[in-house]
Amino acid sequence: MAASPNFPAPTRDLCGAMLVHRRLLNESMTYRAQRARIENRALLYETGRRSSTRSGVVTIPVVCHVVHNPADPSQNIDDAQIHSQIDVLNKDYRAANSDVSQVPRVWQPLVADARIEFQLAAQDPFGAQTNGIVRVETGKEGFDTDDAVKSANTGGADPWPSDQYLNIWVCRLGGGLLGYAQFPGGPPQTDGVVILNTAFGTTGTAAAPFDGGRTATHEIGHWLDLFHIWGDDDGACTNDDRVADTPNQADHNAGKPTFPHVTCDNGPNGDMFMNYMDYVDDAAMFMFSKGQGERMNACLEGARASFLVARQAAAGPAQPVGAAPSGTPRAANGAVPAQGGDVERLLADTERLTQAVLTEIRDALGLVTGRVSG
Ligand SMILES: [Zn+2]
Repeated sequence: MAASPNFPAPTRDLCGAMLVHRRLLNESMTYRAQRARIENRALLYETGRRSSTRSGVVTIPVVCHVVHNPADPSQNIDDAQIHSQIDVLNKDYRAANSDVSQVPRVWQPLVADARIEFQLAAQDPFGAQTNGIVRVETGKEGFDTDDAVKSANTGGADPWPSDQYLNIWVCRLGGGLLGYAQFPGGPPQTDGVVILNTAFGTTGTAAAPFDGGRTATHEIGHWLDLFHIWGDDDGACTNDDRVADTPNQADHNAGKPTFPHVTCDNGPNGDMFMNYMDYVDDAAMFMFSKGQGERMNACLEGARASFLVARQAAAGPAQPVGAAPSGTPRAANGAVPAQGGDVERLLADTERLTQAVLTEIRDALGLVTGRVSG
């Protein structure tokens, strides 16, 4: 399918994460409440009143849903392209990317190893072996930020339990969108990231200048609670990304800027435009900051604590599962959710989250009192 008015060439300044964020804030009291709680927690980490208790590296199991229209075989990207994307994530989130050396000297001490790795799931929600890749045919020409790609009922693919897996949907996106993400605190049935198929990985159909795999690095940054580095205030300098070590900057950057680029009186060093959460070309972004690392820690030990406390679906032993009708979606813990039971799903998720937080509080108290929690 060639470019058309509905499918113009993508530009970085069409990440749809904030669109989704604002829509959910408008629509959902639950989301507003969750976001307030998540922000409070992030502030504790950001101000040093609370620090990360996790040691080592967390591995996030990933399921990649390739949603493709058979009329355009190029949408059905091959396994190698998907693996190339996972490789980029495992470099970028460990500060092991070769281009990290291009970070200006003044900011090199701020480069963060986020201690997060990604692995295509080895077990599906039923405990069966998988390569972590799901291929689904669609009759749709393409998708938008309306989450249609996240449900089989609307021409997409249903997610795997989003407290156990990072769901990545790869598809054709309209409107010049490169991708979008759902911030933590949103509905579990739409949780994950969506990436344009030609901006995914580094091989196959990946097209310059977004062929470095950095769209997924950026969108997963949102999934881990990072905001755009300029604060989405359209150049006003009034809002920032709620991370102290990233300079306040006016608006997003694009292409390959030259250092320094001064805005909002942030001289002499200017914008940290080489940050993954700006909008520059893939070849011009190389780092997360330590403050962003703390914000991701707050998320991983809070709203996404299930990835720390749950046994890793990618590598761990299968959860015991009982008999379920074929095709019945179920959580990785074996629970079969009520059909259409959003409330039940929400309650189950809340209960899991509460357990995770309680475990974490017990551990934190154990550190203070010297007692080890059971
Ligand atoms: Zn974005």
